[in-house]
Amino acid sequence: MIGKKLPFTKEQIEKVIESHPTPFHIYDEKAMMDYARYFNESFAWNEGFKEYYAIKAAPNPYLMKLLRQENFGIDCSSMAELVLAERLGMRGEEIMFTSNDTPAYEFQKAMELGAIINLDDIKHIDYLEQHAGIPELVCFRYNPGALKEGNIIIGNPEDSKYGFTRDQLFEGYKRLAAKGVKRFGIHTMVASNELDAHYFVETADIIFDTIVDLSKELGIRFEFANLGGGIGIPYKNEHKPVDLKIVSDGIRERYEKYIVANGLDPLKIFFESGRAITGPYGYLVSEVLHIKETYKKYAGLDSCMANLMRPALYGAYHHITVLGKEKSSCNTLYDVTGSLCENNDKFAINRLLPEVEPGDLVVLHDTGAHGHSMGFNYNGKLRSAELLLRENGEVVQIRRAETLEDYFATLDFGGLKDFE
Ligand SMILES: *Cc1c(COP(=O)(O)O)cnc(C)c1O
Repeated sequence: MIGKKLPFTKEQIEKVIESHPTPFHIYDEKAMMDYARYFNESFAWNEGFKEYYAIKAAPNPYLMKLLRQENFGIDCSSMAELVLAERLGMRGEEIMFTSNDTPAYEFQKAMELGAIINLDDIKHIDYLEQHAGIPELVCFRYNPGALKEGNIIIGNPEDSKYGFTRDQLFEGYKRLAAKGVKRFGIHTMVASNELDAHYFVETADIIFDTIVDLSKELGIRFEFANLGGGIGIPYKNEHKPVDLKIVSDGIRERYEKYIVANGLDPLKIFFESGRAITGPYGYLVSEVLHIKETYKKYAGLDSCMANLMRPALYGAYHHITVLGKEKSSCNTLYDVTGSLCENNDKFAINRLLPEVEPGDLVVLHDTGAHGHSMGFNYNGKLRSAELLLRENGEVVQIRRAETLEDYFATLDFGGLKDFE
């Protein structure tokens, strides 16, 4: 096993397990914070640059609190995410509300918190006005359609449910301006898990060009361009992380060409990246319960796709390290499975690993985004704990594991009497 490294040793994890049984997700604070600083530094040339962490990736208040130390905002798209921001004391333009198919009560909550509201549909202008009023700063989500090629998670922009068409942008901003709105932003997000730095430069190209046209035609001024999320991470050994210097230099060049050249600066650049911020810094630690040999060889873990759904959902690759066997040769072919009564409950199919035995500890890499957060209770499975490996080496619990009591909390066995 080459390339992928762990921030902890087998001995450290054995110690952790004495008080926190497997499975659990553990996050590496130092690596996450180093990346957060690198992200900000990469765009230091842009005054007002801000990354809004897409909280759905790992909705844990401790992680958000740490990221906030680096001036990160929060990108929310649901009531619970808005309330999480609220309980963290986040307010106003620290919160980006990028939702779709939005219920009125979410718009009301976003307005109450003073969040930046990013509308997904032109019809939401009236809906927002009717249910919550029109805020002083409004953003629209642009779907550039056939202009831009998508990728497999979001697909082609034309097939994507998100955003306004170009014509709708012109009509929408015009209507808002007529209503007296003076502060405007624009957003787009057409990629997911994209490793090509140039993709983000091209996205900026499209957005800046659109800003020029909108500003000229409508006589409005844009405060920010939100370039969305979608920055990919190297799930596989042979992948390379996105070089943010290439992204930043490319965006800066387009900024000069469109924004500065047309006297439209300053324009703040925002991102709402989720995966890249925490993804590589989370690990799912699990124990091998059983080895099964039938037509294939199976390593059955004490976790399942309720702890990490990406492999079953997208066929996604997550690297696996067997603790203490890092240097052994990967000479045995396994399907690595969970215990759900679903045949797609597999973390890996036909994966070469060192010879594995019951009791071995395995680590699934890159679970810090869309890992714990995609958890569910199907088959009565409980969500695991989340732990944080602090910079000083200490390990603290930042979310307890669910218990059976949590599982049964929404059921009422008392009422059954009436059914007899
Ligand atoms: C999921 C999402 C993000 C973050 O995407 P990543 O791929 O995690 O960077 C940002 N904005 C919106 C609207 C999203 O839905």
